[in-house]
Amino acid sequence: MPSIEKHIETSTKRTGKQYRQVHEWIDDPPYKDERHDITRVLEFSRMFQDKYGEEAAQEYVQHLADDLNGKFNHLVEDVQNLVDNTLAYFGAKKR
Ligand SMILES: [Zn+2]
Repeated sequence: MPSIEKHIETSTKRTGKQYRQVHEWIDDPPYKDERHDITRVLEFSRMFQDKYGEEAAQEYVQHLADDLNGKFNHLVEDVQNLVDNTLAYFGAKKR
């Protein structure tokens, strides 16, 4: 998952605003799991909408999407390493 600073950087590029409160709230270690719970997206996005407006709610959803994307990229890397190691083990060369 991207760090809070990375999320802030991405929000700034997207909206011109940091939305630091949004990202810090989502990634707050003791609550991190429940705040990334996809089944509560509607509840939490409404909360952000009421508190900071529509764009903040959108940045909350985007944070979750960026986390998923980060995980997926990581997964692809892990699988690629596994494939490379297996090929190397059997003496095959990577093209
Ligand atoms: Zn996160």
